[in-house]
Amino acid sequence: MNIMMPKDYPKVLFQNRKPDRITTLDEYRQSGGYSALAHVLKEESHAVVKQQILDAVLLGRGGAAFPAGKKMETVADDEPFPRYIVCNADEMEPGTFKDRVLIHADPHMLIEGMIITAYGILADKGLIFIRHEYESAAKILERELRVAGEAGYLGQNILGSEYSLDIMIFDHTTCMVAVTLNLIDFFARESCGWCTPCREGLPYIRDLLARIEAGEGEEAFFPAIEEMSRHLGNAYCAFAPGAAAPVESLLTYFGDEVREHITQKKCPVK
Ligand code: SF4
Repeated sequence: MNIMMPKDYPKVLFQNRKPDRITTLDEYRQSGGYSALAHVLKEESHAVVKQQILDAVLLGRGGAAFPAGKKMETVADDEPFPRYIVCNADEMEPGTFKDRVLIHADPHMLIEGMIITAYGILADKGLIFIRHEYESAAKILERELRVAGEAGYLGQNILGSEYSLDIMIFDHTTCMVAVTLNLIDFFARESCGWCTPCREGLPYIRDLLARIEAGEGEEAFFPAIEEMSRHLGNAYCAFAPGAAAPVESLLTYFGDEVREHITQKKCPVK
């Protein structure tokens, strides 16, 4: 039996790491960086990219080891737009710092990986969610996202292709209730109004979220929003379930933040 020691594994994530500074865009490109993005945008359909990531069984590194390809499969080809890809660089697990180290070592590796993954599901908006305490990592990402955009790797018609992607950074000073409210307000306005759950349900959720954000929320709003987002699954087309997805994510992953708005009678991050 061959036993591989840590020294025998090829370096992947830290192959460009410098002892005292971040890897620049030029250094990243000299080691082959962004050639995979150029290749997929020129030669591969988004479906092929999604399948390749699925076949590679690329895993997250946060502990759950959930395959990235499986997450991408949850975005059906007929999902409505806008579509979002979220990079969770918040690392809430106690004692972990893998995301921070990678951002400080080689930020373009994260950015390129995110753009390729976004292309796989044709996401047109990207978010990087990062904790407030990681101020230096957020600054690095802001700067390097600008650099990547100037080099044609982000924004409209990436590398001359028909694919476009914008990326924003969220930190803990971003109110997720306000973000979801903004999205639902958009969806409520865009509904064609043909079926009842979508026509009535989206304004209903929007109004409850607006009251929560304004500090006028009540405990009963939580189950009411939950129930109405379930009804959105009974609408005629994929628009309403797509609109329900950010609401379900808000309640599932940011339920504490919603409840803080209700108990404190104000937005806790303002
Ligand atoms: S679910 Fe589709 S068909 Fe129904 S109202 Fe919404 S957009 Fe129109």
